Amino acid sequence: MKLLDTNQNNTKIKKSIEYISLWKNLNKDNTDFASLSLMPDYRICAGSKSAGCMELCLKDAGFAKIFNSVNIARQNKTNYLLNDETGFINQLKKELSNYNKRCIKNNKKGFVRLNTISDYPFYKTGVMTENPNLIFIDYTKIAKRLHEKLPKNYFLIFSFSGREQYTNQVRIALKTDYPISVVFYNELPKTFLGRQVIDGNKSDLNNVLEFNKIIGLSFKEIKDENFNEFKDNGFIVYNHQLDFYNKKFLN
Ligand code: SF4
Repeated sequence: MKLLDTNQNNTKIKKSIEYISLWKNLNKDNTDFASLSLMPDYRICAGSKSAGCMELCLKDAGFAKIFNSVNIARQNKTNYLLNDETGFINQLKKELSNYNKRCIKNNKKGFVRLNTISDYPFYKTGVMTENPNLIFIDYTKIAKRLHEKLPKNYFLIFSFSGREQYTNQVRIALKTDYPISVVFYNELPKTFLGRQVIDGNKSDLNNVLEFNKIIGLSFKEIKDENFNEFKDNGFIVYNHQLDFYNKKFLN
């Protein structure tokens, strides 16, 4: 089973490359992007219980909504990681090394997103420090990670949820200048939590460099039954809640 998708099959990945603009000397022609898609579960998404994001996760959007084969492949990879972590990480290291060689040969800068829809601490496994030419990007719901000493080639975005149980995570993240992503149901506001909101729908490669900003993400359609049951659990921010959250987190 191959772990990394190095063919940019994911629409979001293609778009990220297309709109890259904040990295010095990089453009769509000299940028490459590989990704790993695991099926999220509570063991590899440690912050998801308090954030309430599991049922509203993008795991249920895009091709996964249409083709069950996508879900099966993701689940097989998650099972592999959970049942044989050493084997999984060794294979990932080999695939990353090959990917790095391909990028060098093609004269491209390689970006990697290992947690496309998971929040596993890959930065602790050595895969990043062993591949210093590659740049790893990530979203996380674990605020304490923002205060850890991280590999130099690891760029993070903290992911917001307004859920009461997650309040401390947001407060910790707001003490840093890491970008904070927020899923907005309505149009993106100009500011939120005292920070400028930028349109984060175009390129995750740019989003990781938007320090001290809110990465505004527009809500994407997921399964109707999940949306109807969980839409008010705090992960999605609605216009009528903006003042409430601003007061809550800025005081
Ligand atoms: S932590 Fe991220 S990947 Fe995991 S369930 Fe939540 S939104 Fe999905």
